[in-house]
Parts: sequence; structure tokens; C-alpha cells
Amino acid sequence: MTSGTILRAGAEVGTPVDLDLGGAWLIDPGSGRQGPGGLVVRDGRIESIAWLAGDDAAGIDDAGVVVAPGFVDLHAHLREPGNEAAETIASGLTAAAHGGFTTVCAMPNTTPPIDRGAMVGAARAAAIASGSPVRLLQVGAATAGRAGERLAELGELADAGVVGFSDDGSPIQRSDLLRNALAYAGMLGLPLIDHPEDLGQTSGAEANDGLVATVLGLRGWPSSAEVAAVARDIEILAEVAADVSGARLHLTHLSTAASIEHVRRAKAAGLAVTCDVTPHHLALTDEWIAGSRRWAWQALDDDGRARDPWRDHVLEADPFDGSLRVNPPLRSAEDARACLDGLADGTVDAIATDHAPHTQVDKDVEFGLARPGIAGIETALGLVLEAVGAGLLPLDRAIEALTVGPGRVLGGAFGGTSGSAGLVEGAPADLVVFDRAARWTPDAASLLTRGWGGPLLGRPLAGRVLLTIAAGRLACEDPAPA
Ligand SMILES: [Zn+2]
Repeated sequence: MTSGTILRAGAEVGTPVDLDLGGAWLIDPGSGRQGPGGLVVRDGRIESIAWLAGDDAAGIDDAGVVVAPGFVDLHAHLREPGNEAAETIASGLTAAAHGGFTTVCAMPNTTPPIDRGAMVGAARAAAIASGSPVRLLQVGAATAGRAGERLAELGELADAGVVGFSDDGSPIQRSDLLRNALAYAGMLGLPLIDHPEDLGQTSGAEANDGLVATVLGLRGWPSSAEVAAVARDIEILAEVAADVSGARLHLTHLSTAASIEHVRRAKAAGLAVTCDVTPHHLALTDEWIAGSRRWAWQALDDDGRARDPWRDHVLEADPFDGSLRVNPPLRSAEDARACLDGLADGTVDAIATDHAPHTQVDKDVEFGLARPGIAGIETALGLVLEAVGAGLLPLDRAIEALTVGPGRVLGGAFGGTSGSAGLVEGAPADLVVFDRAARWTPDAASLLTRGWGGPLLGRPLAGRVLLTIAAGRLACEDPAPA
């Protein structure tokens, strides 16, 4: 193998891959190992891995081509059934592969919601019919019809193979139902995934409650609406766990410093709580709604406080871009930094995209009317690598939070070696190859999601995905690798 060489089989999507790759930086979070090396894939299996040392390793560092296990997304909205104009299972899996993901957990807030076992089979059939080798895992609804009035058929859903339960899109508002959901999910060995939001504080809310919302005249979505829900969920978990030892709570898309601190304390107390953050809550802030386009870490002063984008004269884009409306909202630079710090110290288990595609008619409207969500599964790696490049997150920790971190959240439901086993000789190749040195610019032509627009269009990002191999088969290949 020669330095920097990627020999390709020219395979078609869905067919087994043969690959000789040398002169790359390998990261294997499962074994904790990283360094210069290469690997050989034959007929979809990792035949050999060579870790290089001495002269052979000269000039190979983690700033160029990186090979890692395929990414696992705990949280994506694929919109099928019900809103196929925004995304389908097929288009969503194609976009996922373009983002480096080989496993995607689909949220059940489709129309109708995935609250019965037979619907899980239909989703799986659509994934198979798509021809994509990206693995679709389904999250089942926690309450019937996601109506928040009685539990869904959790046992039936578990038998059908769901990997967790969630009413995402909405919180489980009734505390008695949350208690029962945690207990039954725990007995079934599955996590309860909550979208923490106190709806009593967010009616009509448009943007993070703070300077930007005040100046722009947008209705505020206070931090406390998330923090109060996180605190409630953890308190209930603590009681349920005393009776049901398997009860597990996963808090998704945390966005505030105080929420991260609650999870930090709960973990220290030994509770079975896990959480994820999204790339956009790490890298973007509410000042983007005013027209700023600097990264979250560039918006902090030396004392760690959010700067004033008006005083800094950094407003360069039109304000009120509906593509920036998201739930929870983009927060302050302090909150984004707390999410990054939580990720770095292990409080945050996973980076999840909350990929939420919408059609143009649902997004290209007055800010407060835009449907919440960012179609971010293809730009997730780029945002994370921007934070890595800024020195705020070690690369291996970022990769861990995209691979074995979410795998641990799923636990046994992740399926061990049938998923992203890591860089292991003899295992099916399930990996992503990306070039940190190659920047790319997302635009309507390069993105494969059906979702409209997005705040990152036209903005160069770090880290181009060259190749994604899922379960030994080609999932995505950059048409023009560096
Ligand atoms: Zn949500």
C-alpha cells in the first residue's frame, strides 16, 4: 500500500466492496486505538488491517484521510409514511450514507406514527426495497398515536424489533405516563427517549429567549422549558429505577448548559441516563437568526460569555431565515460551549443529527411559521470537524460520539457485530473514509436529502466523505475523491 492511495472497485451502491486503502489515519474507538495505517477489504470483509510505525508512518497524521467505523445516528426523521415530499426512507438512507452514517435510527413521528408492530415491518421493507445497505433501526412511539394519553403497544413494538421508544417531536407531558413508559421500556430492555420540553413555557415560542429574540421581536423559548423537563425526567427515573433495574432514560437533543449539568450530576449519582446533542447546537447559535454566520465558539468573549453580534458588526446574512427555526431552538454561545464541553468530558454520550427535512412550503416562510428542523445528516460531520479544527474537541472523542457512543445508548438492541463492529479483521466492513483536508460546499446539487434549504448552503465545510461502506456493501462514494 502506498501513501494516500485509495484503490476502488468501482462498485455500485449495494454491492460488496473490494478496497485497498493505505496511508490513512485509522481511528477505532472500540479498541481505543488510532494511528497511521491502511486496510484491505475483500468481498465486503476486512481482510487485514496494517498499523504503520517508523518510516512507514512518516507524514501520515490525523489532518488528512481518516478511516473510522460507520457512524450511527440515534435520531433522524425520514418522513415516510406521510410526508414523502420532504423525505423518504430511500432518500433519507442515501443522504445518511453521504454523511458517513451506516446506521440510522428513524423517529416514529410519521403520519401515522409508528405505534404498532406491523408498521415497523413496513419501514424495514421500504429500507430493503431502497437497495441501500445503510441499516435502518426503528424507534417506536411511546404513546398510542403519540397522543400522550395511554402507552402504545410497547411489547408488540419490541417484538417487531424497535430499538427504543419515543414521542419525539413532542415530550411525554403527563408524568404518570412517563413513569409507566420508563418502567415498561426498562422491562423490555429498551431505552425511553424523551424530547425534553415543558410545553407550558413554549407555546408560540420562536427563538431562544435572550438578546437576539428580544432585539428581533421573536417570542422566547426559555432554557428553563428544557431544564425543567430534564429535571423532572431524571427525578422520575430515579424512582422507577429503584423498582425496575433495567429502566433507562435517554434525553435527546439537549441544548442548554443547565441540562448538561443535570445529566452530569445524575450520571455521577449512578443513574442510567444518557444524552445526545446535535451538531447544529454545537456549532450554531441564535445570532445566526439575526444574520451572523460565525461559529458558536467564535461568539464567546475571553470570559466565556456570549458576544453581541450587533456590536461586533458580524451580521452578514438576511435575518429571519426560516431554515434556522429548530426545536429546541439554537441557543446562546455559552450553551453551545457547555454542550461541547459535555461532549468532551463524556457527559454527552452521542452526537445525533435530529435530521429533520421539510419541503420549501414548510420552511421558506415567515420565521415563526417555519416548521422546526434542520436537514443536517449530510453536514453533521462537517460541523463536528469545525469544532475539532478549532481545538475544542479531540478528533477521537468526536468519532467515539458518532460510533460506539450511540451504540452504547442502544445497548443490546444495537446488535453487536451486525452493526458497526469497528475496525476488526474478519468483520464485515462498516466504515467511513473522509478527508479532513478537503473542504466542500453543500448546495442543492450536492445534497441528497429531499429536505429544502438549510443554513449551511453555500458555506464551505471541513471534511469531505469519500467513501461509506455499510455491512460490507457500498453505500456512498464521492464522485471525485481528492
Ligand atoms: Zn425532538
